Amino acid sequence: MAPVTLARPCALQVLRTVFGYDSFRGQQQAIIQCLITGDDVLVLMPTGGGKSLCYQIPALVRDGVGIVISPLIALMQDQVSALHQVGVKAAYLNSTLSLEQVRQTEQALLDGDLDLLYIAPERLSNGRTQALFARCKIALFAIDEAHCVSQWGHDFRADYLLLSVLHEQFPTVPRIALTATADERTRQEIITRLALENAQVFVSGFDRPNIRYRIVQKDNARQQLLRFIQTEHPGDTGIIYCLSRKKVEETAEWLNQKGLRALPYHAGMSNEQRQKHQHRFLIEDGLIIVATIAFGMGIDKPNVRFVGHLDLPKSIEAYYQETGRAGRDGLPANAWMAYGLQDVLTLRQMLASSTADETHKRVEYHKLEAMLALCETVSCRRQALLAYFGDVQGGTSAAIGRTPKAADHLPQGCGNCDTCLEPVATWDGTVPAQQALSCIYRTGQRFGVNYLIDVLLGKSDERIRQFGHDKQSTFGIGKALDEKQWRSVFRQLVARALVEVDFESHGSLKLTEACRSVLRGEQTLMLRKDTQTTKSKTKGYEK
Ligand code: ADP
Ligand code: ZN
Repeated sequence: MAPVTLARPCALQVLRTVFGYDSFRGQQQAIIQCLITGDDVLVLMPTGGGKSLCYQIPALVRDGVGIVISPLIALMQDQVSALHQVGVKAAYLNSTLSLEQVRQTEQALLDGDLDLLYIAPERLSNGRTQALFARCKIALFAIDEAHCVSQWGHDFRADYLLLSVLHEQFPTVPRIALTATADERTRQEIITRLALENAQVFVSGFDRPNIRYRIVQKDNARQQLLRFIQTEHPGDTGIIYCLSRKKVEETAEWLNQKGLRALPYHAGMSNEQRQKHQHRFLIEDGLIIVATIAFGMGIDKPNVRFVGHLDLPKSIEAYYQETGRAGRDGLPANAWMAYGLQDVLTLRQMLASSTADETHKRVEYHKLEAMLALCETVSCRRQALLAYFGDVQGGTSAAIGRTPKAADHLPQGCGNCDTCLEPVATWDGTVPAQQALSCIYRTGQRFGVNYLIDVLLGKSDERIRQFGHDKQSTFGIGKALDEKQWRSVFRQLVARALVEVDFESHGSLKLTEACRSVLRGEQTLMLRKDTQTTKSKTKGYEK
């Protein structure tokens, strides 16, 4: 174990002489220090936050080789070649290597000729690998993408469960687990499954102060998007996310017709086409890529000025990761999203019809709930985001189990999101909510939003007459609001789980237990007043 007093200058020296950086970023130094002295750590830091140095430097400072477990072959290769460029002896072991290459790498390892070895998790179940490790001096284990151990997350990998074996076999080797996924559940699961109960936890760097968050109500989303780009980002580089391949194609084509330069990107395109578009996006300026979530892994273009969402992401993690591709250069950037009732319905539908097991579905359902709450919040969006991740402002290592309150983060609000810039007006929606709920009830909980709105507005419609709903007490009682306002009411009812969508019967709305108190008048329902015009345009960045 290296003496603490020597370690500091040593780590800093390595940072400067090997990596060529002047100073540590955020909590890097504290994390590195822990590892050097032999403690376990869990690091929750967003992509681009600088996680790699957290294990690369201690691996160089400590005796022996640093073993990095990484599930992403492409990233493994990138990292190793970047390390070679700065003169670090690094190698990897994964399925892309020939037998001869594997043998050479293993030999280098045994000869003590490696500073860092990247390895795919499935290799750890191999007795050969374990025997190999037993024969060399190991500086540390770094478990990258540690959320893969969690069934709560999206990327569960059974191989990751084997990682606890490392600790049993090499109890004195310090471990660092790293992830960009920071919700409380995942964190707890990583700790339990990897036996990291004694690890120091570092949560940091989730704030992206230069990104302005804005979530507008969908009206005519494509037009809204076009207006947003034309007024705030003419000629800028940007990424637009859509849910489906078809919508990606259509949106890209439409933007081109409107005189913007846009390229599609989705998993249904040929590999060659995708590569071509990605390459153009990286080297050209002022190009807009319209993509499904297939786009983005490893994309590190610093001057992406805006990220737009035409559909609701499935979780806050996804939203954060996708919007986080904007403004990597630290200059002002916009995260813009149009969101509406149909988004909620579509995602709920996808969830309901997915073949995942019940536990998994419940998890996804909660994640979607959190995303909806972010959309509907009437207070600072950044506060809500940071609170979700448990990021403590300017914080040191966060205590586990503590649920930070939004106020811990930015007591005054961030001043750089839509709700801060234009405080949201609310209105007492109790009566319309009651009308909507009883309309659902009296029509037998068998109809979708459009039909219900027609009944509330008292539209004369063949179907309504057929069902005799023009004789119902709720027929025409909702004339005080227009159709848009009703959609907003229904959206918020669904978002708050006062109403649920039944997908067995084509998206008909049903009441939930939770709506009772509203129906009985025991609860006042303050709703968000949707602004139909995007007034904030004029407050955009001066360019
Ligand atoms: P992550 O693994 O968290 O996504 P990386 O380790 O790839 O992030 O780091 C992101 C970028 O930040 C890299 O280009 C890296 O070289 C740079 N970086 C990391 N730490 C520092 C630092 N202390 N000073 C300057 N640049 C840094
Ligand atoms: Zn704010």
